[in-house]
Amino acid sequence: MRYISTRGEMAAQGFCDVLLEGLAPDGGLAVPESVPHISESTLESWRSLSYPELAAEVLGYFVTDIEPDVLKPMTARAYEGSKFRSETIVSLRPLADSISLLGLSEGPTLAFKDMAMQFLGEAFPHVLAARSTTLNILGATSGDTGSAAEYAMRSKTGLAVFMLSPYGRMSAFQRAQMYSLKDENIHNIAVRGVFDEAQDIVKALSGDLAFKERYRLGAVNSINWARIAAQIVYYFWGWLRATDLDVCSVSFTVPTGNFGNILSGHYARQMGLPISRLVLATNENNVLEEFFTTGIYRPRTPAHTHVTSSPSMDISRASNFERFVFDLVGRDADRVRKLWHQLATEGMFDLSDKLDVLSKQYGFVAGHSTHSNRLGTIRRVFDQLGVLIDPHTADGVRVARDFVEPGTPMLVLETALPAKFTDTIQESIGRPAPLPPGLEDLESREQKVTVLPCDVASVRDYIVEHAKV
Ligand SMILES: *Cc1c(COP(=O)(O)O)cnc(C)c1O
Repeated sequence: MRYISTRGEMAAQGFCDVLLEGLAPDGGLAVPESVPHISESTLESWRSLSYPELAAEVLGYFVTDIEPDVLKPMTARAYEGSKFRSETIVSLRPLADSISLLGLSEGPTLAFKDMAMQFLGEAFPHVLAARSTTLNILGATSGDTGSAAEYAMRSKTGLAVFMLSPYGRMSAFQRAQMYSLKDENIHNIAVRGVFDEAQDIVKALSGDLAFKERYRLGAVNSINWARIAAQIVYYFWGWLRATDLDVCSVSFTVPTGNFGNILSGHYARQMGLPISRLVLATNENNVLEEFFTTGIYRPRTPAHTHVTSSPSMDISRASNFERFVFDLVGRDADRVRKLWHQLATEGMFDLSDKLDVLSKQYGFVAGHSTHSNRLGTIRRVFDQLGVLIDPHTADGVRVARDFVEPGTPMLVLETALPAKFTDTIQESIGRPAPLPPGLEDLESREQKVTVLPCDVASVRDYIVEHAKV
């Protein structure tokens, strides 16, 4: 499998190259040259596989530059039972009215981002060792991405992580999760600024090509194709578990921010997995809901992005959306380049002529949820079923209800556990979310963090001093 850019000006590359690359050199995103097709009989033959075995099969189509007998132990280590709270790695829990939760948050940091990041934690050291080189991962986080990356990369050979976070702006739980890691290759840097300013520092440093090359900077944000590939696996897993009882088609509802998670669902469907609907759920930041209901894409500025109680979805410019638009316009890279030029000059583009295709051909429908929907859904699900869900998952459950079809199971992707967002749980049901076993003392563990002024030079100096060379 080779990868090309959505902007059409990158020579085709293998998986290991795009793993290390981040953004394509032409400013686009790496996508597979063609999407593999999975036959019905192959799909059925996967029914008895464990999660790590299934991951090796599905990823095998996309990772053709790593031998299958090397890939298999990699997925076995990434999805090893001791790291996950569920025996099956990903669980399926029925709620009501044919809605079930696909439990993707049983990993080390209690959010679905572990599912992809744990695989990256195996893929990076493999590729770095094969090429006798090192990588310094630089990123900014407002919570879930940073901790998932650090838990996956801790103590890995040839790798260091420099993770910027906005000083004093994450929840106590999220801070404790990241800052309690003591591994020498994990660098938590709290900058005195907001998330967007931290992100700007990352962009400035990785945009300085000489610096990027000299210090071998890498990225693990959701534009990294390897994350999208690893997430495709759980759509197959969910389908296989939900169809054990003779059902064929399944729908998925996905709480969406950067369009990474649901993009993996789109690829699974393109690969031939019988998915009826892909339901995109947003919070009050509903730019993508607007696109999927009108065909008009009009991202908002940070100043017009609401701060909500499902904060990991407070995004108005979804970085992975370009990969979907590439497919929508018939994989026409010229057209993508023109659309993104229009976005830069006019702030919007209009694909309303494709509105029909979005639902009929691609299965996409969309809805949004508000703060009061969120609180009400958490309370109702808890009171009626005794299941406590997190605010992002609640947005999914709320929107899923409007799109259930008779006879078709609806799987809502559980993107985090409630313990991560306990203030909103408290507001909804009047008491905090319980901490998962083993994490009761998390907030009292010793923390390691470097506080820096919010400027490029300070972060640059820190990296120069601490980078793996
Ligand atoms: C990252 C995240 C999301 C959004 O996922 P995308 O892939 O960016 O669409 C939703 N919920 C939680 C809890 C997250 O951490």
